[in-house]
Amino acid sequence: MLYGVTKIADLLAAGPTISFEFFPPKNEAGWLSLGRAIAELEHLEPHFVSVTYGAGGSTRTKTADLVSWVRRQTHIAPMAHLTCAGHTKADIRDILLNYRAEGVENILALGGDPPAHGEAPSESDYRYSLELVHDVADFGGFSVGVAAHPELHPRSPDRATDRQHLATKLHSADFAITQFFFDIHHYLEMLDELAALNVHKPVVPGIMPISNLGQVTRMAHMSGADVPSWVVERMAKAGDDLDEAERIGVDIASDLSAQLLDAGAPGLHFYTLNRSWATREIMRNLGLRDRD
Ligand code: FAD
Repeated sequence: MLYGVTKIADLLAAGPTISFEFFPPKNEAGWLSLGRAIAELEHLEPHFVSVTYGAGGSTRTKTADLVSWVRRQTHIAPMAHLTCAGHTKADIRDILLNYRAEGVENILALGGDPPAHGEAPSESDYRYSLELVHDVADFGGFSVGVAAHPELHPRSPDRATDRQHLATKLHSADFAITQFFFDIHHYLEMLDELAALNVHKPVVPGIMPISNLGQVTRMAHMSGADVPSWVVERMAKAGDDLDEAERIGVDIASDLSAQLLDAGAPGLHFYTLNRSWATREIMRNLGLRDRD
């Protein structure tokens, strides 16, 4: 941890960084369990933590509250996710003014997804994340990240178009964080493709420790990622033993994380799903933080 340094661009420059992602819980029990997970993970001294934003602004207040809580009550730099679909420019300005007043300095600027089938779309001044990246950069004072999709975004018509849009947004942003993946070659190929487009900004890989294969497979399908057959076969060895399944998920994520660090990744971003055990075990396996 670099005391006093809170902008992710600066933390990455001194990297590799370790970061954890949380989502705002839906109920009181969820908040209590998240509080415990954050307390346990704070010992690992992450460089930053991030808080997701519900599509169309559905967690607008809860995300802002959790980000501000991290800023005031912990020593960790927070990053607020912000999706632009369904927001006006006035909404975005209000949200950024609030974060500036709270001393929050990092924004992950996202497109978000259109409303689910049957839901009425809200008034929106935005279509793509790039427009939000520009508005956050023009507002000033924030380190700005974007999403990267190693196995392509599901709405991209082809590989070249996906990479060109990613390159364009990375020209204006400071860094990217990836969707989760299980084979390192997806990540390395994406970096080569970005380098060919003259983009060399840090792209932090997102790591998903599997505990529930069905849940992760559903998430992967929605985001255009693949759960390879070797992962399914390894997880199947656990049978009905849920603890063993979690241990195998940790081993898979630990191996991938080690490969990524060896390959020079600028950091590791863990999708914690608001739990601490798997992330703590991976960190221990990597020998990164083993004092807790
Ligand atoms: P964009 O960059 O806008 O891209 C979306 C699609 O549009 C891509 O196919 C892209 O190639 C294409 N595109 C971009 N620009 C153009 C253009 N000018 N013309 C034509 N096509 C274009 N979702 C949430 O709701 N809340 C979260 O907190 C959240 N956090 C995330 C964190 C990470 C690290 C990642 C990887 C994803 C996250 N998401 C989150 C999911 C994300 O919102 C969805 O994947 C969404 O569908 C796309 O977001 P994006 O920022 O990649 O969008």
